[in-house]
Amino acid sequence: MGTDPITAIVAGNMCTGCGACAGAFPNAIRMIEDPVHGRRPVVEDTGKGRQAAKSALAVCAGASSDWSGLTLEDGVDADWGPVLGAWEAWASDPEMRRQGSSGGAVTALAGHALAAGTADGVAHIAARRNDPRLNEAVISTNREGLMRGAGSRYAQASPAEMLGKIASRDGRTVFIGKPCDVASAHQAMRSWAELSDQIPLTISIFCAGAPNLAATERLLDRLEVPKDAQLADLRYRGNGWPGLMQAVWKDTQGVLHKSKSITYAEGWGRYLQSARRWRCRICSDHTGAFADISVGDPWHDPPSGEQDKGRSLIVARTRRGHEFIEAAIRAQAIVAEPRPRDVIARAQPNLKNTHGAVWGRSLAMRAAGLRAPRTLGQPLFPLWMELSLKQKLQSVFGTWKRILRERLWRKVTISEIRE
Ligand SMILES: Cc1cc2nc3c(=O)[nH]c(=O)nc-3n(C[C@H](O)[C@H](O)[C@H](O)COP(=O)(O)OP(=O)(O)OC[C@H]3O[C@@H](n4cnc5c(N)ncnc54)[C@H](O)[C@@H]3O)c2cc1C
Ligand code: SF4
Ligand code: SF4
Repeated sequence: MGTDPITAIVAGNMCTGCGACAGAFPNAIRMIEDPVHGRRPVVEDTGKGRQAAKSALAVCAGASSDWSGLTLEDGVDADWGPVLGAWEAWASDPEMRRQGSSGGAVTALAGHALAAGTADGVAHIAARRNDPRLNEAVISTNREGLMRGAGSRYAQASPAEMLGKIASRDGRTVFIGKPCDVASAHQAMRSWAELSDQIPLTISIFCAGAPNLAATERLLDRLEVPKDAQLADLRYRGNGWPGLMQAVWKDTQGVLHKSKSITYAEGWGRYLQSARRWRCRICSDHTGAFADISVGDPWHDPPSGEQDKGRSLIVARTRRGHEFIEAAIRAQAIVAEPRPRDVIARAQPNLKNTHGAVWGRSLAMRAAGLRAPRTLGQPLFPLWMELSLKQKLQSVFGTWKRILRERLWRKVTISEIRE
């Protein structure tokens, strides 16, 4: 019996963990948390499971994405996906701005969608209530629910697990996720007519890569959370911009303690960044080209301290995204200052080179007989050509070195953590 296509995508390091396959076929595919390989799908080993896996390929942007339907009018669009407009912005609600990862703009836009009747639910992720090391996908219908999601969670999360619920619930739902989550949601909307009507807006955060649970454990050690403590909260960002990483834990008497805190730069640089999955290193969309709106950090205009008043960079990707942002500004849900469309390159100087390097990395993988995600219609070769000679060589030879070091030809096998 051959391996089903979803298990093959996981085994071949092409799964992003978005959860769309499990969201579309919850009776045959479920997501599990592997501490090293991340949140990944497991397909029921039956005929029904294999059939579901075959059908789920249509929603999986991990294996393949198609830019040919996106309107790319100039160099900015070719480099980043469609950019109709850009703003530096923040939530008008001061608490949202403070709790948000950068300026709380994602949460404020989602709140505006509820207030304006664009949708009556928002699908997003939040820390799991009974284990904040992990994330859960939820649908929120009010401010309190949305505030649970404010602040980036530099850990595995599968918001597209909600796609089935979104399709079947009464009312319309805004979808929030990382670029890979939104790309799969976009593919699902194209192949699944009911879903397209049910999702009036998608919002993507920018994303350089999602670390695994092992990295979160190392972070908790650095924060000096005792091994036997019950974790009550873990924040990676928020409480100002960029915010501090800090946990809250409960001792055996039930008394809550705040852990020590470390800066975002230390936490990301020393503990999280290196634990990104290989799939993230061959990711060719870090800024949400398939979303209606995408939001990141305006790093070109950086905070002066660790807990400054936050600012977000908002990018309109579609006409409906553009109109929605303008309506949110008029309704004073966000405060926004327009920026030129090419601001995205100044805000994210590393990501353009990363996209270029992916062309070389994919070439190296295919030459070594390994699979790499298909990126139909995305102009990656010109970005690779813009790299220096050293960077070009690094993208190919560095990948071969990594293939040998990490034995990337071995099939990824996943196992569930004990909870
Ligand atoms: C793993 C990761 C890597 C990132 N890398 C970059 C980067 O390289 N450059 C950059 O500019 N920005 C990056 N960001 C995004 C940035 O941290 C902010 O999310 C963004 O600026 C929006 O901030 P905000 O205050 O407007 O959003 P908020 O109002 O804080 O809302 C954040 C939203 O993101 C959702 N979310 C949080 N974590 C996840 C997750 N793991 N998966 C899916 N959804 C999630 C929440 O549910 C919430 O709805 C990254 C975020 C994550 C989670
Ligand atoms: S749909 Fe998402 S979770 Fe499922 S195999 Fe594809 S990338 Fe992985
Ligand atoms: S880097 Fe790409 S594949 Fe990895 S989590 Fe971010 S958007 Fe998804």
